Amino acid sequence: MALMSDEYYMKMALGLAAEAASEGETPVGAVIVRSDGLIAGKGKNSREKNRNALCHAELIAIDEACKTLGGWRLRDCTLFVTLEPCPMCTGAIINSRIERVVFAAKDPKAGSVGSVTNLFEKEYNHCPETISGILEEESSSLLKNFFSELRRKNQKMSGVKLTEVKTSEQIKKVAAMADEIWHEWFPSIISEGQIDYMLEKFQSEKAISDQLANDGYRYFMIMNGGEHIGYTAVRPENDGRLFLSKIYIKKEHRGKGFGRAVFEFLKEMCRENGYSAIRLTVNKHNDDSIAVYKKCGFRIIGEGVTDIGGGYVMDDYFFQLDAEEQNGR
Ligand SMILES: [Zn+2]
Repeated sequence: MALMSDEYYMKMALGLAAEAASEGETPVGAVIVRSDGLIAGKGKNSREKNRNALCHAELIAIDEACKTLGGWRLRDCTLFVTLEPCPMCTGAIINSRIERVVFAAKDPKAGSVGSVTNLFEKEYNHCPETISGILEEESSSLLKNFFSELRRKNQKMSGVKLTEVKTSEQIKKVAAMADEIWHEWFPSIISEGQIDYMLEKFQSEKAISDQLANDGYRYFMIMNGGEHIGYTAVRPENDGRLFLSKIYIKKEHRGKGFGRAVFEFLKEMCRENGYSAIRLTVNKHNDDSIAVYKKCGFRIIGEGVTDIGGGYVMDDYFFQLDAEEQNGR
């Protein structure tokens, strides 16, 4: 038995992570190696299978290593793990006296070796040596692929499909739906006069055609099982954000999670195109929409009054949802 390179053992951990992914688990793998090259323990994330929050790859590997070596002290051992350890696993590493920790990708959500906090820098009775970034790319892409596959499955299950508006026939359908939904939705918030003014200015066939041709807008019909249930419009901005201009769902289809499915679609669009966030504006009195946006993770980043002509103003909150990719499990 001889000790191999850090990459060698990280590849082994990545193999375990890939196994976890194929079992529907967030792909994280861990290997514990003694200084003479003995593989003392291996683990892969199995929280779903075991229905147990403790079943992180590191804890399983530590458990196995204690059994292999016949004691709780894992001095002289290195833990290789494909994702930055969480606070629970960092605690277990301290308690088992593991000498070295080598991890691949950072975890901005729960990583406790530098991302959220660094527990190895606190005044505990043990502090392992730490190395990060070994095969980081490989681990990150494993996680990214796993999550985007998961999102695709969820989108499929939600039954929602977005069809991009291209033809004049589709523009006509969207304008008709805008007319129907706006007259049903807005009377409690703005006057009929303002609704008609805004429909003509922003949601008539002519206005939509113009936005598509000249203003960089993209419109999508929200479809469910072949039925047209709503529409959404977005516009990429120069600062790298995606402006969500419109999202409307017909009354009888609200409260069924279709809005959330559309947000998932838009987040995916952000990831694919490198947009940093989705931003939107919403009327301050549009309580139901505000509640939906907050539930879907949007936060208020400002407010303002905009003059839209015709003697009308928009008194809005500005909301934003960050779209950055997370490694977190
Ligand atoms: Zn953990």
